[in-house]
Amino acid sequence: MIPLSPTRLEPAQWQRDLAEAIHDPRELLALLGITPDRVPDLDPDSPFPLRVTRYFAGLMRPGDPNDPLLAQVLPRRLEKTEVAGFGTDPVGDLDALLGSGLLHKYEGRALAVTTGACAVHCRYCFRRHFPYAEQSLLRDWQASLDRLRGLDQVSELILSGGDPLTLADKRLGELTEDAQTISHLRRLRIHTRVPVVLPARVTSALCRLIDASRLQVVVVIHVNHPNEVSPELGGAMAALRDAGAILFNQAVLLKSVNDDADTLIRLSEALIAIGVVPYYLHLLDAVAGAAHFDVPVDQAIALMEALQARLPGYLVPRMVREVAGAQSKTPLAAC
Ligand SMILES: *Cc1c(COP(=O)(O)O)cnc(C)c1O
Ligand code: SF4
Repeated sequence: MIPLSPTRLEPAQWQRDLAEAIHDPRELLALLGITPDRVPDLDPDSPFPLRVTRYFAGLMRPGDPNDPLLAQVLPRRLEKTEVAGFGTDPVGDLDALLGSGLLHKYEGRALAVTTGACAVHCRYCFRRHFPYAEQSLLRDWQASLDRLRGLDQVSELILSGGDPLTLADKRLGELTEDAQTISHLRRLRIHTRVPVVLPARVTSALCRLIDASRLQVVVVIHVNHPNEVSPELGGAMAALRDAGAILFNQAVLLKSVNDDADTLIRLSEALIAIGVVPYYLHLLDAVAGAAHFDVPVDQAIALMEALQARLPGYLVPRMVREVAGAQSKTPLAAC
């Protein structure tokens, strides 16, 4: 083990922040000065409950029930409407599971479901019905490691979840130390929304861990709207970059959140200003409860054309959709 930080009996500041996340929709609305009558279909008892950090709530516009950040986290009763074609395993993850939380769908890459926990609950999440309790990598990490050791064509381990950065530095340190012993692994990719909703999570201990690894670390954050890009997020990205990480963003195209060219252009510009390259813009996965975020494919194509016309090529994210059973993410043009 690399020495990370002195053993703490006290939880770190970010862990305390996480413990103080908001779970009651009425509390969130009160904080934003929005009276509940302005959100008539609020669902205070959703089985996929509200979860949002106070920091992220602070990026929302007070008094605006249609705020694009609020829309991503606020449980609404219309999520309970059944919509044809929207199910509980939209991307075929259950078929690809090798057991113990390891997904091997695409050549050269294996994805680890490290934890079910997230710092925020996004209403459109494609894993909102995922059976985390049965499929966490860490439940039987040794067995997963052995399996990974046997996949000798895999050069990249993707830490996903839930959100891997909800794990303590010590746990992440053990995970990366073990992964490093697998000789065919060259890269460690971390898919996370935590820096976006809790930039304080990017601690110096985390950066030391990344810096010390023999694996090239790639961090893919998840920002959907330019209002999510703050000086604090910029600081966190600078720290990760200084530690040697390569930084990308993936977003999801969401109706009434970012389904217009100006917003998407501002998003790309805001990301590159903090050193993050737009990687993917995902079409919504057809997950039950999220149909009201769906953007029609022809509108998505028109948006893509607008971005291509108005942005440098490297600021145009690849628009993809996940097709169960496909050998990679599927570019929109081929959908
Ligand atoms: C999205 C995904 C990947 C990564 O795909 P890239 O196109 O390399 O970003 C790998 N494994 C699984 C299971 C995925 O869903
Ligand atoms: S942070 Fe990612 S995994 Fe967690 S709820 Fe949001 S989209 Fe889903």
